[in-house]
Amino acid sequence: MNTKTKISLLILMGFLTITSCGKKETAPVEESTEINETATEGVQPAATVENVLLIEGNDQMQFNTNELKAVAGKPIKLTLKHVGKIPKEAMGHNLVILQEGTDQSAFALKANEAKATDYIPESEKASVIAHTKLLGGGEEDTIEFTIDKKGSYPFICSFPGHVAMMKGVLIVE
Ligand code: ZN
Repeated sequence: MNTKTKISLLILMGFLTITSCGKKETAPVEESTEINETATEGVQPAATVENVLLIEGNDQMQFNTNELKAVAGKPIKLTLKHVGKIPKEAMGHNLVILQEGTDQSAFALKANEAKATDYIPESEKASVIAHTKLLGGGEEDTIEFTIDKKGSYPFICSFPGHVAMMKGVLIVE
């Protein structure tokens, strides 16, 4: 009887040891959960600077993008950089942001006649939200403005003939 009791106790102890080992195995799972949580926090994108926009114009009569994005109701800081070499008399670039629904081509036709005001026509000022200076190669200009209403605002370079190539949309969300 004594021997049998000892054996059964040994078996029981052995079983307990296995069970406790089994419990230990769950520990690494908890650790990996913690790691996952840490990783999720790390995934959050680094905040890009809101409403700071850069657009370039070149000697091939092109902007480097036809879409800009900004947030409504907060100041927008926009820089136009002429990365070419040709002077503004021959390859001038500006960036004119127009009210929603403005016909870019019709505006540009009026602008053609407004050389004295760097191709910003006085008669169409109501359609202009903001505009940069007219730039030649190597020059840049930064403007600040705010758009309160969400929408899609067309932009162009109003230098004669450029609207065909140099136009896009500023999306305000
Ligand atoms: Zn231009």
